Amino acid sequence: GNAPSSNFVRAIVESDLAAGTHQRDGLPPVITRFPPEPNGYLHIGHAKSICLNFGLARDYAGLCHLRFDDTNPEKEDQEYVDTIMDSVKWLGFSWERDGQEHLYYASDYFEQLYKMAEYLIEKGYAYVDSQSAEDMAKNRGNFGTPGTNSPFRDRPAAESLQLFRDMRAGKYKDGEHILRAKMSEDAMASPVMTNRDPALYRIRHAHHHRTGDAWCIYPMYDYTHPISDAIENITHSLCTLEFQDHRPFYDWLVETLAEGGFFKKPVPRQYEFARLNLTYVVTSKRKLRALVDDGTVTGWDDPRMPTIVGLRRRGYTPESIQLFCERIGVSKADGWIDMGTLEGALRDDLDPKAPRAIAVLRPLKLIVDNFPEGESVECSSPVHPHHPELGKRTFPFTRELWIEQEDFMETPTKGYFRFTPPVGDQPGSRVRLKYGYVVECTGYDKDADGNVTAVHVKYFEDSKSGTPGADNYKVKGNITWVSAAGALEAEVRLYDRLFLDPQPDAGGKDFKSVLNPNALETVTAYLEPGMKDAVADQRFQFERHGYFVADRVDSKPGKPVFNRVTTLKDSWGK
Ligand code: ATP
Ligand code: MG
Ligand code: MG
Repeated sequence: GNAPSSNFVRAIVESDLAAGTHQRDGLPPVITRFPPEPNGYLHIGHAKSICLNFGLARDYAGLCHLRFDDTNPEKEDQEYVDTIMDSVKWLGFSWERDGQEHLYYASDYFEQLYKMAEYLIEKGYAYVDSQSAEDMAKNRGNFGTPGTNSPFRDRPAAESLQLFRDMRAGKYKDGEHILRAKMSEDAMASPVMTNRDPALYRIRHAHHHRTGDAWCIYPMYDYTHPISDAIENITHSLCTLEFQDHRPFYDWLVETLAEGGFFKKPVPRQYEFARLNLTYVVTSKRKLRALVDDGTVTGWDDPRMPTIVGLRRRGYTPESIQLFCERIGVSKADGWIDMGTLEGALRDDLDPKAPRAIAVLRPLKLIVDNFPEGESVECSSPVHPHHPELGKRTFPFTRELWIEQEDFMETPTKGYFRFTPPVGDQPGSRVRLKYGYVVECTGYDKDADGNVTAVHVKYFEDSKSGTPGADNYKVKGNITWVSAAGALEAEVRLYDRLFLDPQPDAGGKDFKSVLNPNALETVTAYLEPGMKDAVADQRFQFERHGYFVADRVDSKPGKPVFNRVTTLKDSWGK
């Protein structure tokens, strides 16, 4: 495959490898993790993190853990655990190495996390705060203004310990007490807000999807994450830029607990990279959930969704998403990536491998008046223009055909080389029906409302593509068509971008006010006959129209439903 391009994370890993920074007996020198919270479906932003973390493991003979960060019982569910595992596998990655599964759950560490919290209390590094939520928020201060110490900050360690044990035992209601860290005596004056006695544990009388009712206190993300990394011997803990301010606490926590003998050094290190912002989509589980909940889309796997399951159903390949992630790279600067980059990766991946087929999406009848009724001539074309070994496909030429409505113009504009009728003593246009015959337009029919209902042509018997006579005809137009007699009638879903605004949720904008009302148009199309054998997930290039996939949910044997993945060219806004 392609050599991975370098980036600042790779540079760090390579220098750590050279220096032996994370050399430990029996462990690979690079261990990363992908740590989703099982509270929704993965989206294209997560794919960036997956490709980065699993990609490092792959390229440096390391290991990448899949870890569920499941410390918010109310929002999490097994359904999400299952789909996340499925999506990571589908993207082409594995958490298995040498026959061992490296699948972890933060909830499996609840007992260890609790013991470490008791240790921190005993050492004076944590205390139970009994302020009201309002007082706590007020006393935290603001950026540029120091906070105020909680009146409970200096309560004796023994008292905090007893309260913490009673919290665990269920003696208090939600919100009555919390456990907070005390990184230093003057931490409440720290210019870094996340250093101001961050919360470690809160009371939540809630059922957890894995631990059931065993716990009524749950550890906070900022406490759980560094410890989980250290327990799992993670070397490089990669997260998005908004966690930069959390790094001092991360370092303090793992160092402090390593001093306490809970982990061996070297401890894991956190590095931050820019999250993916992709134009014309939103990448926030909360916002995506809102689109599902209010019925804007049919579900998490709606082909308009930037979720992994949505992209998969839309027709994206794992390879195209990996290629996209490789192309966008990894940097420390926030920015927006154009949707065209993702679509371009899809085209580059599919062009060399997608079999070709002909589809007429907006049909208009074409009648070859001098072709005998009931007869048929076989035409053929390569399955793929660059892969003769894939052979040929065949389809019949008959008296009645379907062409695209846009391939006929009653009053042609300049430079229009498709079907135009005769005018006065000037004959109608001559075009080639691709892989078939040259025909000349002789007239057209209209209904009472003035709509064109059929185009009439005569064909030249000696003009068939691939025969010696074909060269005698020089025509400018080359038109796709299918035989009305043999065509497969099929539902084709023409998907487009879900939003009209390139940055639908930037600057607090209401993303629901910029939805693209035309993000889905469903047409009844006519496809070349062989398409009846298309199986779910099979992808094709429909000549001139773009890339299409047989929908993995709604296609039935002999009756495929197609989704447009993307057009052949980037034509958005043109
Ligand atoms: P969301 O805001 O959509 O809920 P999240 O970051 O809360 O996303 P997690 O399940 O915690 O969701 O994410 C798992 C991992 O994926 C984290 O390490 C996170 O940094 C990374 N990640 C999430 N969104 C993006 C993104 N847009 N670009 C790059 N990485 C991302
Ligand atoms: Mg998160
Ligand atoms: Mg989130």
